Amino acid sequence: MRVLRQAGKGHRLFREVVLIARAARRLFIAAIVCAVAASARGIAAEREHGPVAVIFMYHHVSPTVLPGPYARALTVTPQEFAAQLSWLRTKGCRIATVDELVTDVHGGQRGACEAALTFDDGYDDVATYALPLLRQTGARATFYIATGFVGQSGHVSVRQLRALAAAGMEIGAHTVHHVDLMTLDRMQARREIQESAASLRRWLHGPVTAFAYPAGRYDAAVAQDVARAGLATAVTTDPGGVSPASDSYALPRYRIERGSGLSLMQALFAVAPRAAAAAATVPTTLAHIAHERIAGNAPDVAEAVAVAILAPRFPEQVLKVHVLALPSATVAGIVLSGVKFHAPVDRRQFAGDVRMMIDRAMQAAPAVDEVDVWATVPLPVVAGAQVSGDYAVPTSRTVFSCAVTRMQAAGTPGLGLTYWDPTFLAAGAAAPAQGEHV
Ligand SMILES: [Zn+2]
Repeated sequence: MRVLRQAGKGHRLFREVVLIARAARRLFIAAIVCAVAASARGIAAEREHGPVAVIFMYHHVSPTVLPGPYARALTVTPQEFAAQLSWLRTKGCRIATVDELVTDVHGGQRGACEAALTFDDGYDDVATYALPLLRQTGARATFYIATGFVGQSGHVSVRQLRALAAAGMEIGAHTVHHVDLMTLDRMQARREIQESAASLRRWLHGPVTAFAYPAGRYDAAVAQDVARAGLATAVTTDPGGVSPASDSYALPRYRIERGSGLSLMQALFAVAPRAAAAAATVPTTLAHIAHERIAGNAPDVAEAVAVAILAPRFPEQVLKVHVLALPSATVAGIVLSGVKFHAPVDRRQFAGDVRMMIDRAMQAAPAVDEVDVWATVPLPVVAGAQVSGDYAVPTSRTVFSCAVTRMQAAGTPGLGLTYWDPTFLAAGAAAPAQGEHV
């Protein structure tokens, strides 16, 4: 029953969005082409201040993709990683640890291009695939380890940690259990921070000064506890460059995702005139496609969301991005095609892709309070029946829907209450995706 009610609610909201979209369409002047994603504005702003120091965030480097909702987007192939290292080297970039980058920036030693590469969580594929490539390039990097998982399947062992450290890599703490520190009481949060640093110091017989907040979640009290644990830097998951004004306990990072890392680096480190910055960041074709698929009463927000979810080339086709700015909330509706997938659908992968879209939409458009995602398939239409064009809701059957608020997104990796059509996604629909409440 809950599921049915949710599906019904999705339909109602969708119709509401569509009705307003229809009304807005008449007023809609299709001339706002210059709106780009928030990260692109950040890039442009950084260019004004000359040389850029950037921390990049990786998770997996592996030729194979593990199961799980996030794994695909967060797995960079060794070939991609090698190409990124070689591009940075050819460009004359200094590839450093976070400690080195922060010391350089705060000491005014920053060169024309400086990049710190960071690897989160402590998966063993980074020791297997990333470490040899880093050594070949003569590059150093920072590895953030959730110490409670060390030695478990899929995670680094103490021996591998020692090998990383011996190769000159910086090892940082990432709590014991990889928990959102904002959900813990002060004593528990302190213990997670202190114990993870203490284990690493014990295993490596050396100082540990770097820290990464799980899921990028922290506040002033958490940052203070990190400092009190003898840690000198802490990284978040907010995108941005590092400047002399940056807080050492709130260092921004750009996330490297499968397929788009090199173009992100090129955009960040390109020596382009300021006027061309936006064009260089969002390819013309992408901006055009995004512009064609937006609807609603907040076109600039819709375009930022559309660019953010079209850029990583998810296998799911994005048909429409509606953004409805109401006095109570700004809701982004993403409509996916349920039929035009390029490959058979795996339910876990689909759920993971949807969640990545939601995260990217919220990151690109801070004004958005809620993201709703639908997958639709067309109903067969009898000959002679009238079909009312691209907003023809009655001719589309919703086969999947979910709605996630910004608050929910911060607290859980799931999709909230979801509706799945029983016959949809049959190909790989053996088990519900992680964090999913059906
Ligand atoms: Zn993590």
